[in-house]
Amino acid sequence: MALLVQKYGGTSVGTIERIKHVAQKVHSVKQTGKDVVVVVSAMAGETNRLGALAQEIAEFPDERERDVLLASGEQVSVALLSLALKELGQPARSFLGHQVRIETDSAYGKARIRNIDSTKINQSLKNGEVVVVAGFQGVDEDENITTLGRGGSDTSAVALAAFLNAEACEIYTDVEGVFTTDPAICSDAKKLARIAYDEMIELASTGAKVLEIRSVEFAKKFSVPVHVRSSFVDVEGTWLVKEDESMNDVLVSGVACDKNEVKITLVRVPDRPGLAAQIFGPIADAHIVVDMIIQNASEDGTTDLTFTVPKADHKKAVAIMEKTHAAVNAQGIKVDPDIAKISVVGVGMRTHAGVAAKMFEVLAREGINIEMISTSEIKISVVIGAKYSELAVRALHEAFVGKQENP
Ligand code: ADP
Ligand code: ASP
Ligand code: MG
Repeated sequence: MALLVQKYGGTSVGTIERIKHVAQKVHSVKQTGKDVVVVVSAMAGETNRLGALAQEIAEFPDERERDVLLASGEQVSVALLSLALKELGQPARSFLGHQVRIETDSAYGKARIRNIDSTKINQSLKNGEVVVVAGFQGVDEDENITTLGRGGSDTSAVALAAFLNAEACEIYTDVEGVFTTDPAICSDAKKLARIAYDEMIELASTGAKVLEIRSVEFAKKFSVPVHVRSSFVDVEGTWLVKEDESMNDVLVSGVACDKNEVKITLVRVPDRPGLAAQIFGPIADAHIVVDMIIQNASEDGTTDLTFTVPKADHKKAVAIMEKTHAAVNAQGIKVDPDIAKISVVGVGMRTHAGVAAKMFEVLAREGINIEMISTSEIKISVVIGAKYSELAVRALHEAFVGKQENP
């Protein structure tokens, strides 16, 4: 029988009314004769609330226990949705990550899915039940509960769709699909009918939180058809697809903004071989992902080394730097949390020159200073002061995508 995986995000299950609405939607799909596996997030705001509780106890909470705590948000929503389905006369069964056995590695807070055992899910589907799985969580080989990182329910859903061979994975959220930029920032943002996996990977990694990056990597790797759509209005959303020739005509598919990074500078480090390894080794050992790096060499044989890390990890990174900076003879550490990374993304950049020049020109016209730059084949990112982020997004969107024809 055809199988559909549906994922409902925090806002879509944010109240009891909304959970009842989701139950109606799921029930009506099931009545068309399809099997349905539903993945749910915690109710909106819940994961933040739980994280803040842990923070009240410890600045660096024990990561194992923090995951046990964070995973509890999804336990509530799977139970509520299953109850709502049963109230409609629809047999349903909730599963936590470890009950399915969604096996992950042991990197608490950012665990990767290694394997999903489909036995129990298939059994439940065979019994005519809707299977309701808690997103964002798994279990490692020693039975420890793990979480996949913020937004990780998207990854749970796409991974389930891949392992269960579903016909598609529908991601239901609070916007109608993937837009050319965040519609909450720019009212001219346009919904894309389709987007290439690679473009979506770049957009997701540069701040477009509508899909979590690993979910898109999974979708690409296993060719899962993903449909991002609204849980509130019943219209076609955006399909993630393989890149094709026609996409090269569009220079920039999207503009993204990420305010979740912090810039750290090691000031006046002696410029000698092995230094970068000495500085970034301990950061990597702490599983902190460094994004951009720049090094300014100066005449006096020292260099300023600047890099960005996720906001959630920056205190840990600074604590590590405080130890390293004496060892490498640096003169000091500067930390700047008021930054934003703005990116333009499009597969058309592979075949067209001049996107970077145009981007810098637009920012210069708005009087916005560029602090760091990085590029990939289909993306250009700049770091700017956080207070300019919305101005930059709107100006770049207008320059590359244009205004809405029928506002
Ligand atoms: P959910 O709780 O359903 O997982 P998220 O809040 O994680 O939803 O993601 C949806 C949000 O992503 C939207 O409300 C929107 O503001 C934001 N967003 C950022 N960039 C984009 C984009 N390019 N297209 C659509 N939404 C975007
Ligand atoms: N509840 C988790 C979060 O808020 C996972 C998710 O919603 O995808 O990040
Ligand atoms: Mg999300």
